[in-house]
Amino acid sequence: MGYPHSYYAATAHAAPPRPTLQGELTCDVCIIGAGYSGLSTALHLTENGYKVIVLEAESVGFGASGRNGGQIINGYSRDYDTILSCYGTDTANALLNMSFEGGDIIRARIEKYKIACDHRVGSFFAAFNKKQMDELERRKEVWEKSGNKSLEMYGAEKMPQVVDTTLYIGGLLDRRGGHIHPLNLALGEAVAIESLGGKIFENSRAVRIEKVSKPKVYTDKGSVTANYIVVCGNAYLGDTVPELTERIMSVSSQIVTTEVLGKELTKKMLPSGFCVEDCNFLLDYYRITADHRLLFGGGVVYSGTDPADIINRLQPHIAKTFPYLKDKKIDFAWSGNFALTLTRMPHIGRLSDTVYFIQGDSGHGVTTCHLLGKIIAEAINNQTTRFDIFSGMINFPFPGGRMFRVPLTALGAWYYAVREKLSI
Ligand SMILES: Cc1cc2nc3c(=O)[nH]c(=O)nc-3n(C[C@H](O)[C@H](O)[C@H](O)COP(=O)(O)OP(=O)(O)OC[C@H]3O[C@@H](n4cnc5c(N)ncnc54)[C@H](O)[C@@H]3O)c2cc1C
Repeated sequence: MGYPHSYYAATAHAAPPRPTLQGELTCDVCIIGAGYSGLSTALHLTENGYKVIVLEAESVGFGASGRNGGQIINGYSRDYDTILSCYGTDTANALLNMSFEGGDIIRARIEKYKIACDHRVGSFFAAFNKKQMDELERRKEVWEKSGNKSLEMYGAEKMPQVVDTTLYIGGLLDRRGGHIHPLNLALGEAVAIESLGGKIFENSRAVRIEKVSKPKVYTDKGSVTANYIVVCGNAYLGDTVPELTERIMSVSSQIVTTEVLGKELTKKMLPSGFCVEDCNFLLDYYRITADHRLLFGGGVVYSGTDPADIINRLQPHIAKTFPYLKDKKIDFAWSGNFALTLTRMPHIGRLSDTVYFIQGDSGHGVTTCHLLGKIIAEAINNQTTRFDIFSGMINFPFPGGRMFRVPLTALGAWYYAVREKLSI
């Protein structure tokens, strides 16, 4: 199976043909899903000598990992103070100390495996108002205490160095963030896994798991018996493991890419080359691609459906940010799903002694999924300290069951968006 029509699919590196699983195989660890969570787990394990098989329902990076904004953003979907009030000082500090590692893992892999994925340094959080600036000041203070010394506040006078718009009053630059071509990162990681002896099967959807001491995964055409299974299907998991799906909600976000704008115009728009995400609850995020287009994402649909009118949804946001782009052609428009948890913190754990899972990045997963893959690999290797911290955070099922969880969550989001508009 291929990929949805996107800028990433159109500019992806050629991938080797990968087989469909046939017959009965065995391995140390079988991983379900070849997004960042599955690939990160697989690469950490193969680097440590484990025999790994990855089963992917479609193609490597088919899910959110091959469709996202490509922004390497540190931290989690919740800020430090919220995490502190929910989980206490020890957990909050432990999570904070781990929160810059995902980006370090990505950069180390790009370097080690020579992954060509248009990596650029620098992510910028843009503030519309004083309240958001105060929150960014607090973020800087907390992150600096935890060792991130790559941060700089920008006031209004410095904003022209970042972005050619009048929308923001300032923001926070993180030089430990940055951006990448997300699908090419995933494809490069897959090649790295295979170079170390790992096996990846595509068009091989796991349809059933037997959670016994030697767990077994079934696809339509074969099975894998392993010492451990790691489920990383996230928002695309469907009904394979219902006890996981009830704790997440599939949410879609949309992205467009303009026609090629050229070096001169894109340099005027974003002189520094940083990626930008604004501080709103329903945020816009954007950056310049390697071939000088604007890649612009924003909005969400609670239910994970693909809206038909992506261009009409996003073009007004582009025109508001860069009025002189209002007539530029949009070459690509696509949608992708991430998994939201009720707490907006990632959800990892064990379904049995031998079956692990990662899900619920809550839209903030480029770095987090790379970190969580490492943590699951550590747990399989009997180092559970960091796994215990993440898995100790309770993640509740969404209220309202299948029928009402979407409208209830949309209502909650609307409430926060209105508060934001009123600056309260
Ligand atoms: C439009 C969009 C923009 C985003 N932008 C950003 C961003 O800029 N920065 C950021 O930090 N985060 C961003 N995110 C979030 C980020 O992309 C995700 O957090 C991350 O990619 C999730 O990785 P994953 O491996 O957990 O899931 P996925 O990448 O979705 O991978 C899951 C994989 O599992 C496969 N699968 C599912 N079920 C089965 C099964 N039964 N058997 C076999 N395979 C199966 C799927 O086909 C899929 O390939 C964005 C998300 C979206 C949708």
